[in-house]
Amino acid sequence: MTEDVTATGAGRWDQLNKCPECGGDMERAAQVGEQLGLYYRCSEHGRFRYSWDHDTLEPVPEPNS
Ligand SMILES: [Zn+2]
Repeated sequence: MTEDVTATGAGRWDQLNKCPECGGDMERAAQVGEQLGLYYRCSEHGRFRYSWDHDTLEPVPEPNS
């Protein structure tokens, strides 16, 4: 069972680099100001934030769109 845990954990973080919309690779975005959390950016779909509560990537609205 230990192998499964390791594999799953690695898979999770691997998935976080994938855009939930298009499946493309995303860049890890730097934190801005007092924002906390993990931010990723898709060149087509904008920013996503990892939600620890929901264990998923949520779209982040662009403030100046
Ligand atoms: Zn995308």
